[in-house]
Amino acid sequence: MQAFEATNHYFDQAAARMDLTGNMRTMMVTPDRELRVEVAIEMDSGQIGNFIGYRVQHDNARGPFKGGLRYHPHVDVDEARSLASLMTWKTAVVDLPYGGAKGGMNCDPSKLSRSELERLTRKFVQQIHDFIGPDKDIPAPDVGTDAQVMAWIMNEYAKYHGFHPACVTGKPVEYHGSAGREAATGYGVSIITRETLKILGRLVAGTTFAIQGYGNVGSYTARFLAAQGGKILAVSDAFGAVSNPDGLDIAALDAHVAAARKVVGFQGGDAGSNEQLLTMPVDVLIPAALGGVFDAAMAKEVQAKLIVEAANGPTWPEADEVFSSKGIVVVPDILANAGGVIVSYFEWVQNLQHFRWPLEQIQREQETRMVDSFTKVYEMSQRKGVSMRTAAFMLAIGRVGRARALGGI
Ligand code: NAD
Repeated sequence: MQAFEATNHYFDQAAARMDLTGNMRTMMVTPDRELRVEVAIEMDSGQIGNFIGYRVQHDNARGPFKGGLRYHPHVDVDEARSLASLMTWKTAVVDLPYGGAKGGMNCDPSKLSRSELERLTRKFVQQIHDFIGPDKDIPAPDVGTDAQVMAWIMNEYAKYHGFHPACVTGKPVEYHGSAGREAATGYGVSIITRETLKILGRLVAGTTFAIQGYGNVGSYTARFLAAQGGKILAVSDAFGAVSNPDGLDIAALDAHVAAARKVVGFQGGDAGSNEQLLTMPVDVLIPAALGGVFDAAMAKEVQAKLIVEAANGPTWPEADEVFSSKGIVVVPDILANAGGVIVSYFEWVQNLQHFRWPLEQIQREQETRMVDSFTKVYEMSQRKGVSMRTAAFMLAIGRVGRARALGGI
């Protein structure tokens, strides 16, 4: 099974409980548009570098397409389709006036110089600028891209269409970005984790966590949970894991990562593998790296009682069934990691208004929206007797379907 098929499997599980015709189902799962462009640049060596860029625009019934750009060697059209579709359901779950899109570049940014990365990004924008824009499709950061890449996108887009900071979100705060955007996804994961624990009769304080992936999302999640008294027993990145049975000192770990660029080698914990992290006895497991982490075999080994999906698409359907049979609660990606797109929405609104909001307002409004969305999904799961994932998809499909019907086919 590939990633897009897995996303559609989850869609179908929810659609089966709704009054959806076959044609409506086809219309809702099929991407509206798929762009595939060759991005050839001159490398620092003087050689030509050939890369392939993708942008999949999945659905815009509820508003402009919205979704991240990923720079990673595994980027392909199937992954972009899956992630674009997840964006459609995510923006609907948290009720933002957006559709879903995703894109990326088949490259390894760790092997590119800064000027190669800039040339690559600008060339990509030259290829797709007519298909993106504040009212069409608004990219944002994802794995392998950051605020600097978004700044280059805005600057390059302006050469064709003039000053439109709302054409991309996740920009640096000093360059039309929003306070709170960088931390937003991890902050949101911590809010959703807190709310789920509350339902289970627990507090973050004293609860134990393992977090896979210590990039933007994983590291901010760790900081916000640790600040509430959560014990982060282990974290990992692409190079390996570190763990401490008494809880990692996150501030000291951050100082280490700032210097070493990886968690391995941190003196305040023991080295370990990613697999050990995923199967260790903790209360809450948070995948915050790439998709497809849990297959059935791995799921059987998981000891955590709660999984909060900070990454997009970490759980294959057969693993989801194993979790369900073991009574493990899974909070789905389309709810758990929606904080990033919520604050991207606030950034877009600020750009369109040429006005800036303070951090307190952004975090307050993010929290209100996330708690409200969590409550709606949880209540739906209780009312219908379904998993949180199926409930989230049902909520989203209902909203997208109504917009489609109201707007006219
Ligand atoms: P990032 O590039 O900042 O960090 C990714 C991290 O995962 C890095 O620490 C990397 O070393 C680690 N990693 C890679 N392969 C790994 C492996 N095999 N085992 C363990 N760790 C591994 O990316 P990010 O922005 O933090 O995104 C992480 C996940 O969150 C992705 O699935 C992304 O789609 C999702 N997400 C991100 C945002 C956002 O705002 N950035 C929003 C929603 C969802």
